[in-house]
Amino acid sequence: MIFADVIIDISVKSLDKTFQYRVPDEFADEIEIGSLVNIPFGNGNRLLEGYVIGLSGEAKFDISKTKSIAGIVKQGVVAESHLLSLAYWIKQNYGSTMSDAIKAVMPVRREVKEQVTRIIYPSVSRSVLEEYAKEFERKHNAARVRMLRALLMLEDESYNEGIDYGYAIHNLKMTASVLNGLKEKGIINISAVRDYRNPVAMTCEEEERPELNRQQQKIVDDICMEYDAGVRGTYLIHGVTGSGKTEVYMNIIERVIAKNKQVIMLIPEIALTFQTVNRFYKRFGDKVSVIHSRLSAGEKYDQFIRAKKGEIDIMIGPRSALFTPFANLGLIVMDEEHETSYKSDMPPKYNAREVAVHRAGMLGASVILGSATPSVEAYYKAVTGEYKLFKLTERAGGASLPQVSIVDLRKELEKKNYSIFSTLLADKIRDRLSRKEQVIIFINRRGYAGFVSCRKCGEAIGCPHCSVSLKPHMFRKKVDRLRCHYCGHEIVMPSCCPSCGSKYIGTFGIGTQQVEEAVLKNFPGVRTVRMDADTTTGKEGHEKQLKLFAEGKADVLIGTQMIVKGHDFPNVTLVGIIAADLSLNVDDYKAAERTYQLVVQAAGRAGRADKAGEVVLQTYKPEHYSIVCAARQDYEKFYEYEIAMREMLQYPPISNILGVLVYSEKEESAAELSGKFAEFIRNYGDIQVLGPTDAPLAKVKDIYRKIIYVKCSEHSVLCGIKDRLEEFKNKDIVYKDCGVHFEML
Ligand code: ADP
Ligand code: ZN
Ligand code: ZN
Repeated sequence: MIFADVIIDISVKSLDKTFQYRVPDEFADEIEIGSLVNIPFGNGNRLLEGYVIGLSGEAKFDISKTKSIAGIVKQGVVAESHLLSLAYWIKQNYGSTMSDAIKAVMPVRREVKEQVTRIIYPSVSRSVLEEYAKEFERKHNAARVRMLRALLMLEDESYNEGIDYGYAIHNLKMTASVLNGLKEKGIINISAVRDYRNPVAMTCEEEERPELNRQQQKIVDDICMEYDAGVRGTYLIHGVTGSGKTEVYMNIIERVIAKNKQVIMLIPEIALTFQTVNRFYKRFGDKVSVIHSRLSAGEKYDQFIRAKKGEIDIMIGPRSALFTPFANLGLIVMDEEHETSYKSDMPPKYNAREVAVHRAGMLGASVILGSATPSVEAYYKAVTGEYKLFKLTERAGGASLPQVSIVDLRKELEKKNYSIFSTLLADKIRDRLSRKEQVIIFINRRGYAGFVSCRKCGEAIGCPHCSVSLKPHMFRKKVDRLRCHYCGHEIVMPSCCPSCGSKYIGTFGIGTQQVEEAVLKNFPGVRTVRMDADTTTGKEGHEKQLKLFAEGKADVLIGTQMIVKGHDFPNVTLVGIIAADLSLNVDDYKAAERTYQLVVQAAGRAGRADKAGEVVLQTYKPEHYSIVCAARQDYEKFYEYEIAMREMLQYPPISNILGVLVYSEKEESAAELSGKFAEFIRNYGDIQVLGPTDAPLAKVKDIYRKIIYVKCSEHSVLCGIKDRLEEFKNKDIVYKDCGVHFEML
């Protein structure tokens, strides 16, 4: 008799264990570890789904009470055993349920029939189509006229993309015979375009490859030499913006796939642009596939199956592509390693870099991380020898790094300049516009209005204990109190600046709309495009705006941190950064790191081609090390300051922080349980505990949230504490109305 250990597919902590079921003979041959099965559960024998994570011949419980598996889910995708082990590792390390962890490692869990979308294209030019339309009008062929007029309505750039077949049938009231008639006349073409085998319409002709420069060649040689010698490692390439990192990745990838191994190429979703993907298609042809959030379930399934069958060698995609089921994985590349999108914002809150390194270790693959602004954690690992560090110090193709000027906004205030633009920035914008060159104005939206600062001296009001800014709490539309979200320290909103006594204190922050208005007012007649999370809906919207700008149909691009890699704007010669230090005031220990990254990445948009670039960096804190170092693109110096700071305050990567979030509909319950937790941890040993205090979002949908931060240099100790707390809570019937989330920060 066979028994299966099953993880039930429900994200409930109390069900986060395996349940043993009998495997009826009829399924005995088919069942395997990783199978998705139906099982009866609970008193009512409700039919649920679960994954088999173990099989054995021994019953753990009384056989007469053990239920039987009801069936194997027909369209379930079998989870590979190493992915199940990876899920277990994620559960252990990030404190999620096993079920959530399995969901993460199995982004595609069910077979989905590929859906064919049919598209109607014009087969003739616009003018010929216009002639046909007139002819059908004369003949009173209303249906045909409707179809052609709809095609003629398409804008030039989408003319060749055609119209959806379904739309034509339902909205334009076409019939198959009308459409076939038009097709037979050679006016239109109908095709099942969405051939997912090629998610990107590509030209396969290879472009001329640039010859690698010495620095690039050395990295390729060193990594490939180790690879050939059977050494697998994690490498960090710190290369300034435009230094040719992608070119290095592609050269190494070529060598790895020549050994019949497969490669995962991770890119932040936002940088996953047509240009980026197209570069890979041009080099590797249809060995490449892409996965991203806009693909339907069917499309994703199709891509994963192709990977599993070995039909492709390279999978490009964001975080979730990490789990592509390649049979022979040889390399994981993670571009823009520092990007926050590599950390999952839903449980399990895993860090894709760490998971990549772990998965690579399980399968004997190497990992290459790349960034112009590495995360402090990755750099720390490189400095301490866990990763191997490489540098690209110059831009490839000869372009120079932009010249940066720092403007002290406090001096502008003294000069009675109350405008968003400093005199210097305004002058330079005027100059570029007169030369028909383009300008990017970058607004730092991080930390927007989330703190109180002084316009005279530039200081934000911070927590005396935690070196983060205090967060304003509003009462009747006015800031009433300020509170620290790490330790709970709270003060009444002062009436003047605690540093200099000035009355000019308050929450500051500007949006893209205000900047656009200011641009239009100061530079009449200028053409602007605006890009931020609020104004541009969806990724398509962004691409459109960026395309306008790239084609020179706008002079000034105003945007937030969304202006990123993947788009080249050779005509941009000036980048203005409105208030570079806003992000320093975020209530997060990574504030300085983020500020450095934002400024360097924004500056990196200037002067990509033959024209030299310039950056004007406006700030209230011209002396802050993150600003000074960013202006000089001096990462090493920045890191030196930052790691000293982390050391002093025992923040990661020096120490580890476990966040324990307790939530409940009843505030008293959440407060009581989090208090008990804090006490419990304090008795646990030599461990620093902060809180409990209100979580950054103290109340969400009427659920109260309290948070505790636990600091300890030993990661394993924190994992142990997490397990103890979980046991503690499950034992105590009093706190059934509370939930707990854990997160490694
Ligand atoms: P990164 O990934 O570091 O931003 P890319 O690989 O995108 O850099 O390179 C930036 C630009 O320089 C691209 O247009 C690329 O084609 C070009 N490039 C890269 N390497 C070289 C080289 N060795 N010689 C000339 N041009 C290069
Ligand atoms: Zn002040
Ligand atoms: Zn504090």
